[in-house]
Amino acid sequence: MDYDVIIIGGGPAGLTAALYNARARLKILIIEGFSVPAQAVITDCIENYPGFPNGISGFELIENFKKQVQRFGAEFSVGNVEEIYPCKDKNLNGWKIEVEGKTYTSLALIIACGARPKKMNVPGEEKLQGRGVSYCATCDGALYRDKDIVVIGGGDTAVEEALFLTRFGKKVTLVHRRDRLRAAKVLQERAISNKKMEFVWDSITSEIIGEDKVKAVKIKNIKTEKESIISCDGVFIFVGYTPNTDFVKELLKMDKNGYIVTDTGMKTQSPGIFACGDCRQKLLRQVVTACGDGAVAAFSAQQYVEELKGEAYK
Ligand code: NAP
Repeated sequence: MDYDVIIIGGGPAGLTAALYNARARLKILIIEGFSVPAQAVITDCIENYPGFPNGISGFELIENFKKQVQRFGAEFSVGNVEEIYPCKDKNLNGWKIEVEGKTYTSLALIIACGARPKKMNVPGEEKLQGRGVSYCATCDGALYRDKDIVVIGGGDTAVEEALFLTRFGKKVTLVHRRDRLRAAKVLQERAISNKKMEFVWDSITSEIIGEDKVKAVKIKNIKTEKESIISCDGVFIFVGYTPNTDFVKELLKMDKNGYIVTDTGMKTQSPGIFACGDCRQKLLRQVVTACGDGAVAAFSAQQYVEELKGEAYK
């Protein structure tokens, strides 16, 4: 086999798994996808990762994780994993991975492929993506200096990103389908007291209006059924996430939303495949819980590999 463990995903879960496996002196490869960045990387400021009293930018945190992993000798590769299938080498069962023309083999796999922003699938959303419709405030916020911005969603991401967008926009209108926010109280307090923010409650977005660029959103109040139009230059959509698990859907057990089912040791039902972080079924998706998952997955993978090689410490 080329490696003891291949880790798919270079976000907090994958990099923590890599750190633990590298320190266990396993031969590991981390494969980072290039089409979908780790959500943490595009987070302006992470305030609830312990040890950083003033918060830390997601980009900086992930760079630090990488430096720490590299110190212990892990290998990195970039590419989107296309297929995974079982293989055998010297009587040892393992997994073969196809990554855009390259093939790698390993005894164990850790899937830490995260999740991507969910779409609303309303008219105008797809057509105007990149022309006023965005799913990343850190990437696109600066394009809306002194402009009117609409943010859709009521969770931590929507409120956090809306607050970030107030640095640029003239006004940020948050449209939420309920009469209160799902986001953490500390974020709610900050948003409510921010003079640039306005709230439209009990409202769903039925259309994003514009030809070449966004001009407005059409919303409907679900209590009164009244429709109205909010003029704006940009619409930022933060209505949750979809796991990046399509490539393992034939291989692993998933819940109805596509999250990989694991036990508490991060084991999937396929021997030698472990899953951790935002792509697995769990209660709380945060950087800190992704790191915890990654450490557990690495430890389980290490035990699995040592058992296979007859090197287990019993
Ligand atoms: P989320 O918690 O699932 O919230 C999604 C929001 O979008 C909800 O308010 C939901 O409304 C709304 N929504 C869903 N589908 C919609 C639709 N089709 N149209 C309009 N609104 C829709 O997602 P998230 O905020 O992206 O957070 C994901 C996870 O990451 C959470 O576990 C969160 O705690 C975590 N996170 C944490 C931090 C932090 O700790 N600083 C930051 C970002 C994310 P309802 O409320 O009615 O369901």
